[in-house]
Amino acid sequence: MELENDIVITGKVVGYKGDNSLIKGVISNEHSLDPIKVELIRKQFQIVGDISLIPMLETELFGYFNNNHSEALIIPSMWESGGTEKTILRLKKLRERFDLHVSSNLNKIFDQSSTKFLISPLVNEAEGLKIQAHEYALHELGHISNNSLLKKYKQGVFSNLSCQAIEELRADLIGWAIAHNVFDSAYCVDIFLSTLCLRLGYDYHRFDNDLNPHSLCGEMYIQFLKHKKVIKKENGKYKFCDISFDFMELFDELINWAIESSINVDSYEYGLDKKILKKIGAWYE
Ligand SMILES: [Zn+2]
Repeated sequence: MELENDIVITGKVVGYKGDNSLIKGVISNEHSLDPIKVELIRKQFQIVGDISLIPMLETELFGYFNNNHSEALIIPSMWESGGTEKTILRLKKLRERFDLHVSSNLNKIFDQSSTKFLISPLVNEAEGLKIQAHEYALHELGHISNNSLLKKYKQGVFSNLSCQAIEELRADLIGWAIAHNVFDSAYCVDIFLSTLCLRLGYDYHRFDNDLNPHSLCGEMYIQFLKHKKVIKKENGKYKFCDISFDFMELFDELINWAIESSINVDSYEYGLDKKILKKIGAWYE
């Protein structure tokens, strides 16, 4: 029996050529960002692309995706049932990634109570999935704000690892700034903590063996939190100094930075803004 809103697509995993497979699933509107609100912030953050990212709960998966592959984002090569090309966010994969990796990785670098604190917004499956889907979409909106990624690729901006990492950081910052316009404060803090949780629990653990823009961005957050005296190292592990800390304050500082950066966007995006480099540099002192 076909479920209502069931869609069948063929897709390919980002970055892999020619691996078309079938995915069947249900579009999950409750995990989408409100399109009216997104439209309102489109101008403010100079969104140059179409987010076209739809969260989907898979019902069946055939072919390549049956392999144990961790990609949560799929760019479909065609739609079987009409419609435009949209990027699919596989909610089940997002959750799987969280369940399998995040707390065990966090436990390697944080003490037990800090790990518990960091994962707290995501522990409940339904609520956690909603936050993760929003967090992902906001980050992608951050990427397509201001100059397009294509333009930057063409100009060779991403040939340098530190510029790639700054682009990841920039996407997070803009994503948080957008969240500030879309959600209430408590939910913004949940999103902020979730980004930290996922960056540190999923990306940062690869830092020593697999230096890439995401792991480097996670490492920058460690330095940032240390610099702000939010975390400290004790017996070889990091711990939050005070979990009653006002995260909204920290969040505000970062989003003000994001808004400020959109004034001088070209040099910022291209990793050349001296003010930005100075700020990041201070984290390492
Ligand atoms: Zn990114």
